[in-house]
Amino acid sequence: MPLWKCQVCGFVFEGLEAPDKCPKCGAPKEQFKQLSEQEVQLVLRSRKTNYLHMKVLTLLRELLVVAEEIENDNLDPPCVKLAKEEKEFALTTIQKIMAELETHMKRSKWG
Ligand SMILES: [Zn+2]
Repeated sequence: MPLWKCQVCGFVFEGLEAPDKCPKCGAPKEQFKQLSEQEVQLVLRSRKTNYLHMKVLTLLRELLVVAEEIENDNLDPPCVKLAKEEKEFALTTIQKIMAELETHMKRSKWG
């Protein structure tokens, strides 16, 4: 299926033809440019990677909740120490993923 990109706002539309107007910014049909096969591949790959990173984010948030539970349970110092390390890892990795996703969003040529 061809992909069309709004030259005004970057919205990517999937369809045989460009839409009559941009669903996001309302720009007319003429503002849409068909993406090349190579650009389409980049958009699709970028979408897949973003989706996978989002899944990891969900897992890390769960890790955070479980580690918090271990910490609050407060069985013994080694357990609490380990729980703190687990939380630290989850928080740091969540921030790294968010930063990475942000750079993907800004790379507007990928749509
Ligand atoms: Zn637009």
